[in-house]
Amino acid sequence: MHIATRNGHACHRKDEVLWRANGSGFPVEYRSHPMYKDGELVGSVVTFVDISAHKLAEAELHRLAYYDNLTGLPNRPLFSDRLHQAVADAKRRGVYVAVMLLDLDRFKVINDTMGHEAGDRLLQEIAMRLKNGVREGDTVARLGGDEFALVLAGMPDMHVVSHLAQNVLSRFAAPITIEGREVFTGASIGVALYPTDTTDIESLLKFADSAMYHAKESGRNNYQFYSQEMTTNVQARLGLETDLRHALERNEFFLHYQPQVDAAHGRITGVEALLRWRNGSGAIISPAQFIPLAEETGLIVPIGDWVLETACRQLKRWHDTGYAELTMSVNVASRQFREPLFGQGVARIFAATRVLPSAIELEITESLLLENNEETRRTLDQIKVLGATLAIDDFGTGYSSLSYLKRFPLDRVKIDQSFVRDLGTDPDDLAIVRAIVALSRSLKLDVIAEGVETEEQLALLRSEGCDEYQGYLFARPMDADSVLRLLENNGPLSKKLSAA
Ligand code: C2E
Ligand code: MG
Ligand code: MG
Repeated sequence: MHIATRNGHACHRKDEVLWRANGSGFPVEYRSHPMYKDGELVGSVVTFVDISAHKLAEAELHRLAYYDNLTGLPNRPLFSDRLHQAVADAKRRGVYVAVMLLDLDRFKVINDTMGHEAGDRLLQEIAMRLKNGVREGDTVARLGGDEFALVLAGMPDMHVVSHLAQNVLSRFAAPITIEGREVFTGASIGVALYPTDTTDIESLLKFADSAMYHAKESGRNNYQFYSQEMTTNVQARLGLETDLRHALERNEFFLHYQPQVDAAHGRITGVEALLRWRNGSGAIISPAQFIPLAEETGLIVPIGDWVLETACRQLKRWHDTGYAELTMSVNVASRQFREPLFGQGVARIFAATRVLPSAIELEITESLLLENNEETRRTLDQIKVLGATLAIDDFGTGYSSLSYLKRFPLDRVKIDQSFVRDLGTDPDDLAIVRAIVALSRSLKLDVIAEGVETEEQLALLRSEGCDEYQGYLFARPMDADSVLRLLENNGPLSKKLSAA
């Protein structure tokens, strides 16, 4: 209660609830203005204002500021609040707090193939399952996109946390029905513990993130606890990223070429350009190691341009030497294809190198086609108009939705090496290869097998009607001079011009 002073004009206000005769209440703002006569307090004027609308607006603002609109879950600011509270509480009581970061597996694919509305429905369903999967006092928040976070307060030990993580994962076991279709999704979960891993809240989140990344790398749909080692990995990644950024300007990239051979006669018909990186300390780093990082960081775009230009220049040289039938396959990452100016860039490189466009084949991945977006489609058409051909790399490892083979302007299918490897021993692989060849035939697509290492594999591929192959059996990837030497000894087909 406010006591008015002699000279003050203080006005006292507070919010109260007034009750109607029927028993319902409504919020009011109560104001009392003191009245003085000859300097003496003689009374006050009291007013009540109905502030229901104001209160509603306030609640709405609060909701907007602290909750995610789509799922109704707490958002990042509220999550952070709850985490601070949980940590303060844990400090007093000597218990643990677990932070779980959770990223849906394959969400992007679902979103892109089924549409954003379906994606939204999926997120809502997941939100509900997560909320039902934790205890009353725990927080489930949506941090944005397909990323969720949990604060598990007052944990007695790690076993309980493990158990809860397992429980969260099990929420993904049942399919989710969206637009009459059953969709399966999993989650990659990273867990960090206060105070075991760190007492710093920022680091706690960072550690949970590293652990989540690790969960993704270890095959998805699993959870990982943070470990010291992960920070080391993250640091190594950051180092790799910095090195990669400089690699182009320092001329550390070069190309190797692996011959592609016609299965019937063993003659070289083309080569595939494979990127190599010799870093500052002279070590050669495998593309499997740096291409994913280059994709993530967007560095693949300038690097990819360099690869295409270098490969075109090299092919032009070989054509000019007389190997006019030789083709060149170049790997193109999905990220490159999604660049709006990709088609124009290819046209520019073709023009600048004066290469024969029809001798260039771009290798794309299944996942790119699965995204099924208009932009990609247009870019593919653009490439075709330029005269280049298109192949699907690593065929069979992705979602293998065969309908896109028909829908997109493709020329060739590359059977992934994982099917070739056990061709002689695994009857399933033989059946898969047979199916891919038959399907490609019926769609009038050429077929090439990769990773052929033994005569036995080659014989089987031949008998299945596979046109061409690539693999250590014939030759490993090699530098341009070695390719030339190989061409010189490789029979007439590939040297038509100079033989004439
Ligand atoms: P990929 O396009 O499927 O290339 C085939 C990979 O198999 C190459 O590995 C090649 O060296 C290897 N290989 C060839 N024959 C055999 C064999 O008989 N046995 C075995 N075990 N392996 C064989 P590499 O050069 O390490 O490249 C790995 C992947 O990196 C490539 O797979 C491709 O996806 C990617 N990559 C390479 N260069 C580029 C590039 O310039 N741009 C992009 N975006 N990706 C690239
Ligand atoms: Mg390839
Ligand atoms: Mg491949």
